[in-house]
Amino acid sequence: MTVESSSTEHSSALAKRRNDVSLNRYSGRFAPSPTGPLHFGSLITAVASYCDAKAHQGLWHVRIEDTDIPRIYPGSEEHILRAIDAFEFEPDSDIIFQKDRLDIYEDVIQQLHKKNMVYACQCTRKMLGSNHIYVGTCRDLALPFHDQAIRVKVSDHDICFQDHLQGQHCSNLKTDLGDFVLKRRDGIINYQLAVVVDDFLQGMTHVVRGADLLNNTERQIWLGQLLDYPRLEYIHLPLAMNDQGQKLSKQNMAQALDLSKPSELLQQALHALKQPAIELDQPHKMLQQAVAQWNLDLIPHRTHLDGVFI
Ligand code: GLU
Repeated sequence: MTVESSSTEHSSALAKRRNDVSLNRYSGRFAPSPTGPLHFGSLITAVASYCDAKAHQGLWHVRIEDTDIPRIYPGSEEHILRAIDAFEFEPDSDIIFQKDRLDIYEDVIQQLHKKNMVYACQCTRKMLGSNHIYVGTCRDLALPFHDQAIRVKVSDHDICFQDHLQGQHCSNLKTDLGDFVLKRRDGIINYQLAVVVDDFLQGMTHVVRGADLLNNTERQIWLGQLLDYPRLEYIHLPLAMNDQGQKLSKQNMAQALDLSKPSELLQQALHALKQPAIELDQPHKMLQQAVAQWNLDLIPHRTHLDGVFI
């Protein structure tokens, strides 16, 4: 796809979304990054996003967030797809892969450029040192975009949202973070940009994901505001922790989901989410029952689940 056609696609999607009568229909998603095989924490997110969407007669989509090519773990995309089948989840649209959509994200950077909201930055990690707040060194240098990181400007005000489980969360991006990177110098599109653009283009209304992403939300709200996208609802789930007190993650060597035991694992995931007990059965029947008795309020309104998981 050329940038021109993606630009047309993006503008017509924008117009369509504004007029879309189904705009208010709940749409949710499960958006794993293939940086390792799915683990029990990923299953909790998949189950909760699915059940919450279906309990609202909504749509549920799957998106593979694979823009960070160097971090892709061989075989993990395949494991994700096999897991979707093994647990008998039925996505309401074809699964999309972000690495096929890079032109769209480039086009959105151009749109932000026209609004004078992005700039090229030549600061290396070494130059920034241990300073986690970017002070805007390159903001007014008007450097050419080629082969440089691209940052978006932030402003000095509180951005707040009301999370359905975690309550109110606010950040002043200027003082907490500074202008942040949308595209790295090596050309990799940052997760923050791709997630916002695709949530919009896929018509999402709700984001259900792990509480480890809570602190990313204000950045995503800010980008959505700059692009005139509608606001989303957020549900950040408490995280499953291992015996070292770390969240289950690919980096911490969490065990890959055993796809030969989908029913047992579904039962455990629903138990971890404090949903009413569910009998072992075929996965799709268990999911149906889980949707029928789904109660978001029973999920602990905290950032961590009780107990130890592997
Ligand atoms: N791709 C992200 C991850 O696997 C999740 C993104 C999101 O749900 O917003 O951690």
